[in-house]
Amino acid sequence: MDNLRLWHKFLETVKPEVGPANLKAYFLKTFLKSVNGNTITLTTPSAFIKENLDQKYKTLIEKTFQKILDKTVQVEFVVKETAPEAKNQPDFFQPLQSISSPLNPKYTLENFVVGPSNNVAYAAAQAVVKDPGISYNPLFIYGGTGVGKTHLMLGIGNALLAKKTLSKVIYCSSEKFMNDYVGAIQTRKMGDLRNKYRSSDILLVDDIQFFSGREGTQEEFFHTFNELVGKNSQIVLTSDRSPHEIAKLEERLKSRFVGGLMVDIQPPDFDTRVAILKAKCEEKGEVLPEESIRLLASSLESNIRELEGKLMQIMQLLKLKSLAPTPENISLHLNKQPQKSLSGNPKQILSLVCDFFNLTTKDLVGPKRQKELVLPRHITMYILSEELKLTVEKIGQILGGRDHTTVMHGRDKIRKLINTDQNIQRIFIEVKNKILSTSYPLN
Ligand code: ADP
Ligand code: MG
Repeated sequence: MDNLRLWHKFLETVKPEVGPANLKAYFLKTFLKSVNGNTITLTTPSAFIKENLDQKYKTLIEKTFQKILDKTVQVEFVVKETAPEAKNQPDFFQPLQSISSPLNPKYTLENFVVGPSNNVAYAAAQAVVKDPGISYNPLFIYGGTGVGKTHLMLGIGNALLAKKTLSKVIYCSSEKFMNDYVGAIQTRKMGDLRNKYRSSDILLVDDIQFFSGREGTQEEFFHTFNELVGKNSQIVLTSDRSPHEIAKLEERLKSRFVGGLMVDIQPPDFDTRVAILKAKCEEKGEVLPEESIRLLASSLESNIRELEGKLMQIMQLLKLKSLAPTPENISLHLNKQPQKSLSGNPKQILSLVCDFFNLTTKDLVGPKRQKELVLPRHITMYILSEELKLTVEKIGQILGGRDHTTVMHGRDKIRKLINTDQNIQRIFIEVKNKILSTSYPLN
């Protein structure tokens, strides 16, 4: 029997003894290096796994090999530097694909620009990818808006999917989890909900601060959390503030959240902003002089989403006017634009959107579903959610008592289209400019 076959046979035999979670955590990343007389050497991906195998499973491992080979053996462990490829594992252990909501492949660890503001968070993300469910569980990433929390979280998810050792990655917003929970109660399908979330190998929940005050959801999440951590499934959470600062969050959840690793992401410094802008230009195939990039990087301090938005906005404007992206042209247009994100009251925003599209507010918030109304309505949902940070419930109220799931749907639709549909992108930029120029008349 060659080493690979012997190892597969070993995994098959040991599986019922150790259970699927431990198998995954300790054995699936370990490999049979050599059989030398009575000595069997196993390569482990980390010192941590080596220690666990040595202390908890050594006897079992030796007994199992003894059964298969029909002779007494001693095992020893060596740590391998880089994790071995999953393809050495037998098919029946190879999960086929992610069966969860697809992760946006755009966000990877490779295209995450690292600087002093985010290097700790980035290192933690790498550690999680290396040893999911083991090193840091949960990984709790927090920081202000647009600093790269979601990007980093999806980067972890995508990297783990690429490793193909784990089958089920679930990424969801905290709103989605809440809605699933409420839906499950209404339809009496708690079992389905639990099957879904508790069977994940990696659960990524974005913007967990929205759990604030949701007692039922928190309770359900607490049990989901415990079950997943108990079987070494990795959990990654993001929030716009630390667990301690989330109001109306149960103590027991707080203590779970701080019990893993908490890392924060700070607003990027100037050099990091320059590096990010360069990366984004490259991604989008734009060529900008160094000076222009530095000018843009100095125009915005904190929020990378806005920095990126500003870049796109200016490039679009310059193209429309057939102007070269020189520092002069850019500063001309930069100065015309206030450098803050949108603020203002929702009513004012509604009326500006209506102005822009030539509609009445009554039509916008009313029940009719013509195409001419639906797009403005969705854009309004997006602006109220992304820019004004209103909850989907609140937005539903403002828009004539619509259900919050309708709001989520509309908002997500625009979020996606802004990245893929030039026309929608242009409309959005124009609407935003209109609002900006009206709400900051003094800028
Ligand atoms: P958050 O979730 O913290 O609000 P996001 O992860 O959505 O922020 O990031 C906002 C935008 O900025 C995204 O387009 C993301 O790709 C980009 N971004 C943030 N940080 C980085 C980074 N370090 N490198 C490259 N792009 C980044
Ligand atoms: Mg986010």
